[in-house]
Amino acid sequence: MKVVVIGAGPAGYYVAEGLLNQAGADVEVDIVDRQPVPYGLVRSGVAPDHQSTKSVIRRFAALHDAPALRFFGNLEVGRDVTTDELLQLYDAVVLATGADDDRRLGVPGESLAGVYGAARFVGWYNGHPDRVGLDPLLDTTSAVIIGNGNVAIDVARVLAKTPAEMATSDLVAHAAARIHASPLREICIAGRRGPLQVGFTPKELGELGELAEAVTTADPAQLPPPGAVAAASAGLKRVLASIEDYSRRSPEPGRKRLHLEFFARPVRILGDGRVTGVQFERTIVENGVCTGTGELFERDCGLVVSCIGYRSRPIGGVPFDAASGVHRNAGGVVAEGLYCTGWSAHGPAGTIGSNRREGFELAARLAARPAAPGKAGRVGLAALAAARGIEIIDFAGWRRIDAAEVAAAVPPAPRRKFVLTREMLAAARG
Ligand code: NAP
Repeated sequence: MKVVVIGAGPAGYYVAEGLLNQAGADVEVDIVDRQPVPYGLVRSGVAPDHQSTKSVIRRFAALHDAPALRFFGNLEVGRDVTTDELLQLYDAVVLATGADDDRRLGVPGESLAGVYGAARFVGWYNGHPDRVGLDPLLDTTSAVIIGNGNVAIDVARVLAKTPAEMATSDLVAHAAARIHASPLREICIAGRRGPLQVGFTPKELGELGELAEAVTTADPAQLPPPGAVAAASAGLKRVLASIEDYSRRSPEPGRKRLHLEFFARPVRILGDGRVTGVQFERTIVENGVCTGTGELFERDCGLVVSCIGYRSRPIGGVPFDAASGVHRNAGGVVAEGLYCTGWSAHGPAGTIGSNRREGFELAARLAARPAAPGKAGRVGLAALAAARGIEIIDFAGWRRIDAAEVAAAVPPAPRRKFVLTREMLAAARG
């Protein structure tokens, strides 16, 4: 069985792992990425100060000990090769392309300078080659972060931490220079619903209470009633306990303030050319559904980062569900021989580990398919790429990039990332 997986992030690697486990020596799995480097979200999405989360790459790297798995980096499906060509070469093609683009807020003023979606902003501070030129406007004392999920927490924490707190991170140099020179003092994380509806997880929210130079606050009047707290799940109770703790804290002179604002739906980004604030409508929440009350209020700021979820990118020839931003599929099946998994199949939800079960299940389905004799597989793909003059980076090439990044790090940082594709290619060539 010859399978090609498009996207070398967690969703792709878990399918590859499942196939190697299921089918053993009878399978050949190629994992393709448009970047010369693997690991997708783990490298470009996971926060630079969450290095323990990134340690999952050791598991993925170990899979390459098996010759049955091969990495084809620097190859973009839809541009360099088509999915139809891959379907000719392989028994199955799996799209695990993640969700690289931002959902839009859909409010006036969203295109003003100083307003960024999390995909762009996080990609910038994580050194994604497509995002290094973002050059966000950080010459402001006040920021609003929209959304009540863990991405909003990541962005707020990276903006609030001191250089010393980020010393063990792999925050890229261009972002560290800009963030740590910013006069930012006030960071507001605004959610359209209440504390009972947040997407925060306890550990991530708890970290906001331990920042060296920032105090996290919340409004006691926005806390849920004791009965609702008592009925909450164990995880949500821990989240609510943190919010209650923050509601007892007060801003402190000389420290940054990170404020959790609930029941605040953005209706307009204010400004003329550049953002100067956000206009919100106060909401009430009944049975989890929020409704505007008509009461408007404004919060001044010079930076807005909307962390309201991501969309996948369409790939030429693959049906796309534009409303939900995923490859159109029925239970992971896009078309005969063409599958999808992870965020590009169902949208951005869950942790890296949630992809494991999904990937293993898809692998089991693929392993049960009959393989067609005579498929050219990786030999055919390598020949096609060579004929088109595409420089494929294999896993040995990635190991050279990795070694160069680690060697360039200033301890205790774990690595100094290359942020330009040409730098990565040069390092891969050795
Ligand atoms: P998320 O958890 O789904 O949060 C998205 C937030 O955006 C929600 O609060 C949502 O509010 C809000 N929102 C959506 N549309 C909006 C609009 N038009 N106006 C205002 N607010 C809007 O998504 P995420 O933070 O992007 O994270 C994606 C996934 O990655 C999650 O499963 C997350 O847990 C995971 N993640 C995990 C970690 C970690 O474990 N450390 C770190 C980062 C991300 P409503 O709820 O009202 O829709």
